[in-house]
Amino acid sequence: MNMPTNLEISRNTRLAPLTDIAAEMGIEEKFLEPYGRSAAKISLEAVKALGDRPRAKYVVVSAVTPTPLGTGKTTTAVGLAQAFSHIGKRGVLAVRQASMGPTFGIKGGAAGGGYSQVVPMEALNLHLTGDMHAVTEAHNMLSAMLDNHLHKGNALNIDPFAITWRRVLDVNDRDLRQIVTGLGGKANGIPRQTGFDITAASEVMAVLALSTSLQDLRARLGRIVVGYDRDKNPVTAEMLKAAGAMCVILREAIKPNLMQTVENTPVLVHCGPFGNIAHGNSSIVADLIGIHAGDYLVTEAGFGADMGAERFFNIKCRNSGLVPDAAVVVVTVRDLKSHSGKYKIVAGKPLPEEMLAEGPDDVFAGADNLRKQIANIRLHGVEPVVAVNAFPTDFPSEHDAIMKIAADESVRAAVCTHVVDGGKGAADLARAVAETCDEPSSYHTLYEDSMTLRQKIETIATKVYGANGIDVSPVAAKQLDDYERCGFGNLPVCIAKSHLSLSSDPTLKGAPTGWRLPVREVRASVGAGFVYPICGNMQTMPGLSSFPAAERIDIDADGEIVGLA
Ligand code: ADP
Ligand code: MG
Repeated sequence: MNMPTNLEISRNTRLAPLTDIAAEMGIEEKFLEPYGRSAAKISLEAVKALGDRPRAKYVVVSAVTPTPLGTGKTTTAVGLAQAFSHIGKRGVLAVRQASMGPTFGIKGGAAGGGYSQVVPMEALNLHLTGDMHAVTEAHNMLSAMLDNHLHKGNALNIDPFAITWRRVLDVNDRDLRQIVTGLGGKANGIPRQTGFDITAASEVMAVLALSTSLQDLRARLGRIVVGYDRDKNPVTAEMLKAAGAMCVILREAIKPNLMQTVENTPVLVHCGPFGNIAHGNSSIVADLIGIHAGDYLVTEAGFGADMGAERFFNIKCRNSGLVPDAAVVVVTVRDLKSHSGKYKIVAGKPLPEEMLAEGPDDVFAGADNLRKQIANIRLHGVEPVVAVNAFPTDFPSEHDAIMKIAADESVRAAVCTHVVDGGKGAADLARAVAETCDEPSSYHTLYEDSMTLRQKIETIATKVYGANGIDVSPVAAKQLDDYERCGFGNLPVCIAKSHLSLSSDPTLKGAPTGWRLPVREVRASVGAGFVYPICGNMQTMPGLSSFPAAERIDIDADGEIVGLA
């Protein structure tokens, strides 16, 4: 079969006018702020205006532990949202915004794939409405005010060695990871070592994604801790008088972006926080709009269910107050074969040939990962639905194997062909999700605010990751004590660990047992509202590969973009 490229499919899509898409959602034209023909911002007044409309069922799309092969959460979330119209219902999708770092780095597009994409994919992948730049500007404004404060006499007595606030850019640039600023003599600032992270890793991004209103955004920005004074007290953006200006810079970025799928299903594209040091979920305000704009609101949570879905339940829903009705766990044949531990997969290299041969036994051998991720959803009182994302290289016996595993776990499941067939390829999934949503949700968070930070980490490590316990380094133990003393102990935790394993060791596949989670260091995103223990090597500024995607991206003689995956 000759499938057109994602970019070709996107370009051949007939876009519906966004006013029509909005009308279908019950959003009046006066709330739309068009940015060209393919995207419009939705004013936050829509949240209140939609408040009396019926509440949609709320569905989060998660997955097994990812492999370098790509599981297809975004494609499945798009496919499912589209599929509802094939069973007589209305779906709305809420997804993250793409960062240009990965777009020009290794990954290519982040808009889904085939006939389950957000379109125009080049708009989604390249700048969109400029929110990433606004986050970058707001973040760096705070950095500049912080350094200016030091230069102008340091009235707050900030300890230059205890500054945690860095700078950000939306580009993969490893050379900026560690830098020295303020060089060039007294007139040019106070020299100190700092560095850049990618914009998606900015706390401002996490703040924006978790804010429920402009006032809440303002308050959270004020609570951002940039470092500590010489008496070890936290210094905030409010104390630096920077939060107001930051909020002004973000006044447009807080509005969700309305787009559509290949089948003209409404999509809210908003915010893209990192999935390891932050919660990896699209924005709360988009969901506050989407929850009254259709029959089903589908949203994607980054990485496997132990990461994105856990944070969706314990950080995002804790903040929004929205109650999820069902959770989709996306799985592929290739994922479970690689969780068998029999194959070594290297990103960018062809798959081992034996892995492509028909092998239902290999699928069964990797089943523990799927079983554990199913259990992780149920831990939160939410019922999972397994979506088998079919690839052209799969065999029916392998799909049967996954359906058998799901049946053993008494979970509804469906094989989906939405990438090739669009929404109708996920109609069975939509029916399974709809049935699940008709049952009452017993959603609850995994832990109480009142537990200590250490207890919260231990709870996630043992219950969700399957660890025997946690080993807290002396440095981390001191940081946890300090955070409790500073009053951050009531916050939820966002554990930064490898996304490539349920454990903290990315080489361990399946569902590892008999291990302990090493907590090396702990940091706090007080503005966003979580504490994040570091359990592994976390890269917050990616580098480019030997062959970056940027080398293939160009403009042709007609002025059209080529080479975007
Ligand atoms: P995730 O959200 O889990 O990271 P995506 O949905 O972005 O995954 O998919 C990753 C890549 O795999 C994309 O390039 C997408 O086009 C491709 N892909 C996903 N599902 C399929 C499928 N069923 N068949 C072919 N390609 C797919
Ligand atoms: Mg995705």
